[in-house]
Amino acid sequence: MKKITFLLCLGIAGFSAMAQNTPQVFGRKIQSINPKTGIIRCVSSEYESFLQEKESKRATAQEFEQWLAPKAEAEKSKLLARKGIAGTNAVITIPVVIHVIHSGQSVGSGRNISDVRVNSQITVLNQDFRKMLDTPGYNTNPIGADVEIEFCLAKTDPNGNPTTGIDRVNLGNTTWNNSNVESTLKPQTIWDPTKYFNIWVCQFGGDLDGVLGYAQFPSSSGLQGLQGPYTPATDGVVIDWRAFGSSDYAAGQYFQDIDKGRTTTHETGHFLGLRHIWGDGGSQQFGIKDCSATDYCNDTPVAGWENYDCLDTYNSCPSSPGNDMTENYMDYTNDVCMNIFTLDQKARIMAVMQNSPRRNTLKTSTVCQPPLSNPSFELLQGIKLYPNPANDVLNIAVSDSSKTPDSYTIYNSLGQAIKQATTISEGNLKVDTSNYATGIYMIRFTKGNETKTLQFVKN
Ligand code: ZN
Ligand code: CA
Repeated sequence: MKKITFLLCLGIAGFSAMAQNTPQVFGRKIQSINPKTGIIRCVSSEYESFLQEKESKRATAQEFEQWLAPKAEAEKSKLLARKGIAGTNAVITIPVVIHVIHSGQSVGSGRNISDVRVNSQITVLNQDFRKMLDTPGYNTNPIGADVEIEFCLAKTDPNGNPTTGIDRVNLGNTTWNNSNVESTLKPQTIWDPTKYFNIWVCQFGGDLDGVLGYAQFPSSSGLQGLQGPYTPATDGVVIDWRAFGSSDYAAGQYFQDIDKGRTTTHETGHFLGLRHIWGDGGSQQFGIKDCSATDYCNDTPVAGWENYDCLDTYNSCPSSPGNDMTENYMDYTNDVCMNIFTLDQKARIMAVMQNSPRRNTLKTSTVCQPPLSNPSFELLQGIKLYPNPANDVLNIAVSDSSKTPDSYTIYNSLGQAIKQATTISEGNLKVDTSNYATGIYMIRFTKGNETKTLQFVKN
């Protein structure tokens, strides 16, 4: 019955490659397809299962959860202890590169989406992860979390040159199936995944036809025999361009009901360690309910399968408290339904940001700052900061006394000047950073007409 309904709907929706009886991706049966539109919201769990088969040393889901659980628990305690205390939080900013993969279209046409559309997606990510007031990412649920993560488009590329953070690449006139995404698209275009969160925007085809996106889950480190990190060349998320950006800010072609940028919010949730709220045990499409599967978050009510619309009265597991949280970004509902990450989900994300390879380095990546000036033939040449990252003291070293700057100003990550020294003596070449909040700072030196900016990190 289910299968017949499903094929009929696919016919209506017109996804050409779906004529096969059991649609597969990464050699696996696709678990959940929207019965009304034929859209496949996400294939991240299918992808993870494929990666585990390919990389024998990648932690199994169970091993990963055992590794993460105590860390998430510790983060949760910190969050609870901090509740109601203002000004103690440190927002993490993740540098992003958007690779727009096209086939020669002019910018703003078809899959070569406009800068405005790219920017609209960054806007939505920030609204959703910061639970911003007066935006679609806001909610009044007492367990709704401000995840305190923001996203910025990179300003420095891997060669140290200026960039808009939008990397347009013509890879020819093809749509992208899973093996070509994995073997060609990602490895040929990825930027250093320890410094950049890579997001690819392309047009899916073949076995990915009708799929909105998928993410690579974070990996563990330090597990016995599973030292990782593995599969760095494919790390990031891939989104079909018709599910990318928001029609609130950027007109254009979008999939039905998938026009508010929530595909990228959902996939970024996976990239930062979140699972589907129904725990991937059941499948409404196949009529299988599984109330024992878990997303390892106690505050998302147990759900037996995915949901596809905004109704908040579904209760797929009536023996457990609470209706299905259809408004959660990690369900399969339409874009307008979604507006919440919970506190437990935030604790998982924080644990991943602190501990997972290629996630824990993003929080101190400085590539959202513009490139530093070219050092040759400068009055200020050879000026150095150490130790960097700094703890209580940052030292300013000059190669010889003729290179001593006239003055300097220190800026925090918001660009606010927090310290100025207008005459330089031995004393203020040592900066007391003991009271500085953890994060990235810029220090601008001047000498004569010349200025030079360096950055440092406070641990
Ligand atoms: Zn997903
Ligand atoms: Ca749960």
